Amino acid sequence: MLKTNYHTHYSICDGNGEAEDYVQAALQKGFTALGFSSHAPVPFENPTNMKKEDLPTYLKTIQDLKTRYRDKIEIYLGLEIDHIHEHPLPQKELAALAELDYCIGSFHCMWSPLRKEYREIDSTPEIFRAILEEDFAGNIREFVERYYLYMAELLETFHPPILGHFDLIKKNNPDNLYFKQSEPWYQKAVRGVFPTIRKQEPIVEVNTGGIARGKTREVYPSPWILYELRKEDVPVMINSDAHTPELLDAYIEEAAYILRDAGYRKTWILRPSGWVAQPLD
Ligand SMILES: [Zn+2]
Ligand SMILES: [Zn+2]
Repeated sequence: MLKTNYHTHYSICDGNGEAEDYVQAALQKGFTALGFSSHAPVPFENPTNMKKEDLPTYLKTIQDLKTRYRDKIEIYLGLEIDHIHEHPLPQKELAALAELDYCIGSFHCMWSPLRKEYREIDSTPEIFRAILEEDFAGNIREFVERYYLYMAELLETFHPPILGHFDLIKKNNPDNLYFKQSEPWYQKAVRGVFPTIRKQEPIVEVNTGGIARGKTREVYPSPWILYELRKEDVPVMINSDAHTPELLDAYIEEAAYILRDAGYRKTWILRPSGWVAQPLD
């Protein structure tokens, strides 16, 4: 299996270190491809995302690295683009504007009508609890169901080639604090997105960022969801969602085991010729 990662953040958004540090780490770790996917600007102030005025610098930085390292490693220019329920169009335009090699469509930011601000569902446990209590009157089921409705909406309105961390909503649910994934309503909410996945045909990423940073015990999506997705022949890829160069390859081998357990025999990677399947061995 070629060593690759297409979900990488550095200090232009919420990652650590410079873009070149990740290229150096990738070379040391024997990667054949490295994709950058900084958090694209959003139409409001959000410390996680790069500022709109930084986008040209970002594009140039990665293009320069691509040229300078072309004999050593494949470098790809991507963005992790937020789906914002209240602003679907600007994000879609961003993907077209930026001349990207690929992009990852993700959901993080939820509007609070009470607070009149966006808050990230994967932020701190305190913020997660505040969203739950202030915007959903403590009803976790409504919160989770809304999240998965937005995942389907993301796919419908934005058609990203890659779907980011499908069940990110579990990040702030340590030891089943708020819900169990075995509950029928939870599984129904998850499966409710499957028809849209089948129709829009994104590659679903297996994201090891939660485990690598000690936030979750499982990859995104959970193994039972991967098993279900495999039954539907949904294509997958493995990404580390690295925010530090050292974690570029964190849990990538484990993710491959999990995929094999779920019945997968191949993953998808981006090469200069386009997306190709590679055997999981
Ligand atoms: Zn993300
Ligand atoms: Zn990310």
